[in-house]
Amino acid sequence: MSLLKLHLLGSPVLRQRSPELAGVDPETQRLIDDMFETMDAAKGVGLAANQVGVAQRVAVIDADGERFAMVNPVLVTTEGRATAEEGCLSIPDVFGDVARPERVVLEALDREGRPFRKEVGGLIARAIQHELDHLDGILFLDHLSPLRRQMLLARWRKEHKDDPSYLKDVEPETSRSG
Ligand SMILES: [Zn+2]
Repeated sequence: MSLLKLHLLGSPVLRQRSPELAGVDPETQRLIDDMFETMDAAKGVGLAANQVGVAQRVAVIDADGERFAMVNPVLVTTEGRATAEEGCLSIPDVFGDVARPERVVLEALDREGRPFRKEVGGLIARAIQHELDHLDGILFLDHLSPLRRQMLLARWRKEHKDDPSYLKDVEPETSRSG
């Protein structure tokens, strides 16, 4: 396994809709294993493949004691509404309150290519929705009010003006976010 480089805000792949996979092959499984390792090192609760530069509908989750990969994930139903603070491994040190459905029913393929279904709420439901957004080219910033988003983006640009690169080596000891 190997640590992958994270793509940060500004990387075009974060704004693309990632296409479905025909199935899970050994290459997909290697990607999943590397994504788990990278998410762990970055102390994230979730990671989508385009965050490591791969435009495929693959994501991994480690939240509330549940750890799983999802390939071609789809939300079958959503229910309720809850607001909580979110962050993103692709937008380090930026946080904002995001309102999302509180419970979801997820269908996806697992690491072995087997279909599974999961009914979850709380942090896992939030992490799943955050990662599914990534696969559609959506960032949590897009859910904030325009004013709040502009403020955070202005601060981000100021802090990154001397570092235009959108690739980041994963170091252990960053804050835990998705
Ligand atoms: Zn994210």
